Amino acid sequence: MRILLVEDEDGIAKRVARALESSGYLVERSSDGEDAWFRGDTENFDAVILDLGLPQMDGIQVLKRWRAAGRNMPVLILTARGTWMERVEGIDAGADDYLPKPFQMEELKARLRALLRRSAGSGSPLIAIGPVSLDTRQMTVSVDDSAVDLSVLEFRILAYLMHHTGRVVSQLELTEHVYGEDIERDSNAIEVLIARVRKKLGVELIKTRRGYGYIIPDEVSAASDVGS
Ligand code: CA
Repeated sequence: MRILLVEDEDGIAKRVARALESSGYLVERSSDGEDAWFRGDTENFDAVILDLGLPQMDGIQVLKRWRAAGRNMPVLILTARGTWMERVEGIDAGADDYLPKPFQMEELKARLRALLRRSAGSGSPLIAIGPVSLDTRQMTVSVDDSAVDLSVLEFRILAYLMHHTGRVVSQLELTEHVYGEDIERDSNAIEVLIARVRKKLGVELIKTRRGYGYIIPDEVSAASDVGS
């Protein structure tokens, strides 16, 4: 899951980025409204955490422009405590949720998880497909109830595919959401990562659509046969 974190206070941004990264998210930071607007308008993020008081362009304007242009990624706004006007304005501008500052990191993470689940159409922290279940809260994966040990990158790629079941996801899209855009990766990296995840899961979950990408079908047989 690739998150855009828009926050001009360096200390807060660093703490949030660190906390989210340790939970397996890929975090891209932006510290002014103009830059944030451009990136949200031209790149793909699974969710945005948006501070409202920003240099260049305030958060409300940024959000309004995204929504006017049809950019509909989930947005969680951060507001100073007590400024309920800002909150109302934020929701009106198209925010999906808000969190007053100062906030507890655990609450931010819980709200972010809820946003991502809602946008994936699931209300539970557990996503189960066939014998494989992924716990977005604990960052754990199990197959037939036995835990599988995945690296951060392996978890990221599996979580992304499991949030988008029934749809073919291209290598390019996976690269973007697993590694970020500014990192040059050879095209083998995703293939290698998928191969490792398949081997660790030991079940046929991720299918290859040659020339298109990868898909986890909505319906997966419960049989745990080892395979490609
Ligand atoms: Ca600010």
